[in-house]
Amino acid sequence: MTGTFERTLCYWNDSTTITQPWEIFLTCHWCVQARITIHISMIRRAMAQGSRRGYRVLALESSCDDSCVALLDKQPGQTPTVVDHQKVTLNSAKDGGIIPTAAHEFHQLHFAVLVNNFCKQHNITPLNPPDLVCCTRGPGMVGLLSAGLQMAKGLAIAWNKPLIGVHHMLGHLLVSRLESNAPRYPFLSLLCSGGHTMLVHSRSITEHEVVVNTNDLAAGDSLDKCARELGLVGNMLGKEMEAYVGTIPDELKEEFAKVNTTTRDNEFLFQLKKPLRTAKVGKYPETVEFSFTPFLSSIKQLKQRGPLGPLGLRTNQFVAYKVQEVMFDHLVDRINIALRKHGHRYEFADGKFAGVKDFVLSGGVAANKRLRQKLADLEANNVGVDSFKLHFPLLEWCTDNAVMIGVAGIEIYETLGVRSSLDILPIRKWPMNELLEVSGWVKSNDM
Ligand code: ZN
Repeated sequence: MTGTFERTLCYWNDSTTITQPWEIFLTCHWCVQARITIHISMIRRAMAQGSRRGYRVLALESSCDDSCVALLDKQPGQTPTVVDHQKVTLNSAKDGGIIPTAAHEFHQLHFAVLVNNFCKQHNITPLNPPDLVCCTRGPGMVGLLSAGLQMAKGLAIAWNKPLIGVHHMLGHLLVSRLESNAPRYPFLSLLCSGGHTMLVHSRSITEHEVVVNTNDLAAGDSLDKCARELGLVGNMLGKEMEAYVGTIPDELKEEFAKVNTTTRDNEFLFQLKKPLRTAKVGKYPETVEFSFTPFLSSIKQLKQRGPLGPLGLRTNQFVAYKVQEVMFDHLVDRINIALRKHGHRYEFADGKFAGVKDFVLSGGVAANKRLRQKLADLEANNVGVDSFKLHFPLLEWCTDNAVMIGVAGIEIYETLGVRSSLDILPIRKWPMNELLEVSGWVKSNDM
C-alpha cells in the first residue's frame, strides 16, 4: 500500500496512570479512518521483553566425590537448556567408601583442569564470558564445597559476573525443570541417594517440608553396604547391585518372589521384613519415617549363622534380589502412608497435599529402574491426592551433577532476584526451607 497516513488526533494525559490507553486516529487518504488503542503497560511490557536477552550460566558442583561443570543457556520465559556438562568422579572402589581427604585431594587435582578444558572447548574467555556463575554452597563437607566455591568466586571476579551459591538439595528438587512439562508448585519429591532419603513437599522455591526422612542410613548408603557384604565390587555399588539382580534369570526371580522371608523358615534361612510398623488405614504413626539399617543387619546375621566365607551363588542372588525388592517396597509403603495421612479423602487425613499434581523422583537411587516401576503404583489416586504426574529426570541428572546446580541457580536468580556476595562461606548443615535465612544474599538489579 502506498498511501500516506496522517495523525489527526492523539491524546495522552501524562498525569493519569500508565495503563491509560493511548488512542490514535489515523486517516488514510484513499480509504477509511482507523483507530488504534494502545495500552502503555503493553508497550512497557513489549519493551522489557525486547530488552531482556538470553544468558549463559556456568555451574560448578563439588559437594561429594564428583568434580562437575556445566554450561546452560536460558532464554526469556523458556526452560533452561543444557549446552554441555562434564564430570570426573573419584574412584573409591578399593577404599570401600568415600574418604573425605581423598575426595578433597581429588578436587584439588582435577577441578581446575576440568574447568579450564571445558572453557576452552566452549570458547569461554574473558572476552566471551558466561553471564552468571552458580556453585554448590552446601550442605556438605566444608572442605569439598570450598573447592568449587573458591573457583566460582574467582571466575565471578575475573568475569565481573554475578555469583549464586546454590543449595545442593534444591538442585536435586528442581532438575526436573529441564523437562518441557516441568512440575509446578506444590509438588512432592522423593530424594533418594547415598546421602539422603526423604519425601519433600515443596510449596515454593523457599518453602520445603521434609515429610518423611530416614531415621538411620540413607537408602543408597544401605544398598552400597549390602552390596559390599555380598561381595560386589565397584565405584557405585548400588548400581552394581541393580546390575547383579538384573543378571538373575526371570524364572529364578519368580521363584524368589514366592519365598516368604518374614521368618527364617525358608530354604535360605534368611529373614527380612519391611522395617517399621505398617500402619493400618486411619491409624497413622505420629512420625512417618524410613529405615534402612535392618537390610544390612539381616545380611550380617545370615553370614554370622552360616559357615565362614562367601554365601553360595544361589543364596547370594536370593539375598540381593530380596534386599532390593523389600527396600523399594518399604519406600513405596512409607510414601503411601504419608499420602494417606496428608491427602484429603480419608477420615483422619489433614489435606496438606491438596493441590499436589506432580511427583518427582530424584537422586542416585532414583535411577534404579525397579524403583521407578514400583513408584508407578503409588496409591495417589486412591487417597485423595490429585492424580499425580510422575517425573523421572534423565538418569544422568539423578546423580550429583552441575546441571542441577545451574537450574536451581537460575530459578533463585530469576524468581527471588538475589545473588550471593563474594564473602559467602560453604555451609555444612543447611535446612532446605532456610534458603534465604543464611547470610550472603544481596538484592540483584541484574534482572
Ligand atoms: Zn546429591
